[in-house]
Amino acid sequence: MKTLEIPVVKLPKETEELRREIRQFLKEEIENGLIETKCDCWLSGFSEDFSRKMGARGWIGMTWPKKYGGGERSSVERYVVTEEMLAAGAPVSGHWIADRQTGPLLLKYGTEEQKQFFLPRIAKGECYFAIGLSEPNAGSDLAALQARAVKVDKGWILNGSKIWTSGAHHAHYSIVLCRTTPMDPNNRHAGMSQLIVDLNAPGVTIRPIHLMTGEHHFNEVFFEDVFVPDGMVVGTLGNGWAQGMAELAYERSGPERILSTFPLLNELTNVLIEKCDAKGLNEVSRLISRLWTLRNMSLGIARLLEEGVPSNIIASLVKDMGTQFEQEIPEITRLLVSVIPLTDSENRLERFLAQSILQSPGFTLRGGTTEILRGIVAKGVINQ
Ligand SMILES: Cc1cc2nc3c(=O)[nH]c(=O)nc-3n(C[C@H](O)[C@H](O)[C@H](O)COP(=O)(O)OP(=O)(O)OC[C@H]3O[C@@H](n4cnc5c(N)ncnc54)[C@H](O)[C@@H]3O)c2cc1C
Repeated sequence: MKTLEIPVVKLPKETEELRREIRQFLKEEIENGLIETKCDCWLSGFSEDFSRKMGARGWIGMTWPKKYGGGERSSVERYVVTEEMLAAGAPVSGHWIADRQTGPLLLKYGTEEQKQFFLPRIAKGECYFAIGLSEPNAGSDLAALQARAVKVDKGWILNGSKIWTSGAHHAHYSIVLCRTTPMDPNNRHAGMSQLIVDLNAPGVTIRPIHLMTGEHHFNEVFFEDVFVPDGMVVGTLGNGWAQGMAELAYERSGPERILSTFPLLNELTNVLIEKCDAKGLNEVSRLISRLWTLRNMSLGIARLLEEGVPSNIIASLVKDMGTQFEQEIPEITRLLVSVIPLTDSENRLERFLAQSILQSPGFTLRGGTTEILRGIVAKGVINQ
């Protein structure tokens, strides 16, 4: 059996200055009433203005080459930006997916035209992407997907549908995984390709899926005879499965798999300190120690990804442990303080608790369920 090794990353001194700059910016945005702290902000906090401001400050596409609008900064600096945004519960969902995984995907597999067209727009915080993987009958068993594209002159005609597509109603494009040759039952992963689909193209319909609260952040997306030009194929035709799987390490290991309910943990700590509640603070200190360990693991994976080391197995492990951690925060809060969760409460603890309770069931589903992740880790550790 193989052991999993994650490097220890020490944050360099320069990141302290960057962190101060981000905190000052966020403080001003909050004090001026321009943004509001929210739990699970990377999926449900949206502001076009805020995304543009982040782009203008060079905080999107930070590690990408300058010639594509990036900042050529380190993955650790990018990590500092993302964790500060999550800790403040800032409205980052617009650009999150494009920054986290579409950019790296295009840098690795995209054509020169795709890089020149999309990357600078993403880095400016003006171009958003959605993830087009899940279908009504293909979630954990993604290889069952049926969306298909058929070759025509100068492009492809796409038919099919996707579901649970976060942010599709705000996004300009989606990377759609579909079949470009019919399914081979003996090799279901073969013949898939990734297409960049313009979500405003004729034949695309986006229907909201509302949460019980009436909130809307994911969707059903239908493709009826949508024309996708040849230039919008990502990487190699038929290699979509392998390309898509490489994206998942970026998707699963970041601080958003640990910090979705951090604003609640922070507020809980403040309340317990104010009440001099030693027993409660003892519980919180256990949470903070776990958070510290998870964060170090996640930082280590950011370094591995920067070095091009395949990290899917450890990323799955961190996602499993991290999402359970963020789910436990509202549960522990309910045991420690007597408050009534209310989404529109003036009281921050009540509001953050309500947001966390409502969003947390999805944490261990989105990006791969707990059971699937554990299967990946078990098989990876035994087979290697
Ligand atoms: C908030 C949220 C946002 C999302 N955003 C997106 C998005 O932007 N784009 C996108 O493409 N998808 C998105 N998803 C979809 C997500 O990826 C799927 O929900 C997930 O992959 C599970 O698929 P499913 O819902 O079809 O459940 P199923 O696959 O039907 O699973 C149901 C249950 O059965 C278990 N199970 C299934 N197969 C096995 C197995 N082999 N062994 C053991 N247990 C198993 C699962 O663990 C789960 O508990 C989102 C989901 C959520 C909750």
